[in-house]
Amino acid sequence: MKRRGLCLVLAAPSGAGKTSLSRALLDGDEFMSLSVSATTRAPRPGEQEGVHYYFKTPETFAAMIAAGDFLEHASVFGRSYGTPRAPVEAALAAGRDILFDIDWQGYRQLRAALPNDVMGVFIRTPTLADLRTRLIGRGDDAATIARRMAEAETELAHQTEFDFIIENRDFDVALTDLRAVRRACRLMTSRLA
Ligand code: GDP
Ligand code: ADP
Ligand code: 5GP
Repeated sequence: MKRRGLCLVLAAPSGAGKTSLSRALLDGDEFMSLSVSATTRAPRPGEQEGVHYYFKTPETFAAMIAAGDFLEHASVFGRSYGTPRAPVEAALAAGRDILFDIDWQGYRQLRAALPNDVMGVFIRTPTLADLRTRLIGRGDDAATIARRMAEAETELAHQTEFDFIIENRDFDVALTDLRAVRRACRLMTSRLA
């Protein structure tokens, strides 16, 4: 029995646990990989070209848009981000799943580009106060926390556009939920190749 690969999109207010959950979901899973986006923002310490992002100049990014190299692209926090098309199409055809860490705008566009292959999961904390606690715990500075808390309200306003909402209260419970969602989506009749 052959199934098409699945595009699983994770979106969340910054600090809700998306990075920790996606890392745990991908760990040791040879059938799922992370979509590496292109961005015009500068690399942060420790970020590697081709692993975390493909870092591009605004000029190159614009040329890639013109060439149709992106499945979707969006401006987030004033920088450009985009999902390269070729690796996604290759993975889906080979029956491999792909995890996407993109914002709600990217999710909308990806759904439109690949209507049969995209499922969306929104990750959130129980309350905004919990979100603030996580951002503080992670060591974000005060200005960054203020910006992310404002941005969180925008992200949360879009949560009902997603197929699933997972509350990341207890990490292991949230991870079990995420694995269950992925597995169920894989098994959908509509995924038969
Ligand atoms: P098991 O099914 O519980 O024994 O675990 P597996 O190691 O077989 O599968 C681990 C994960 O990979 C599960 O989420 C499966 O849905 C997924 N998986 C299994 N086989 C395939 C496959 O051929 N292609 C893809 N993309 N995923 C697979
Ligand atoms: P995001 O990628 O969404 O910005 P992170 O994965 O960096 O979020 O998580 C934000 C912070 O919250 C990190 O310090 C992480 O260790 C912590 N965290 C994640 N999940 C939980 C949880 N269920 N309970 C407590 N802290 C958590
Ligand atoms: P960061 O710069 O912190 O890595 O990411 C900032 C935001 O950009 C996050 O909300 C992330 O989900 C979003 N993002 C990252 N890559 C892409 C992409 O390829 N497309 C879209 N639309 N958003 C992205």
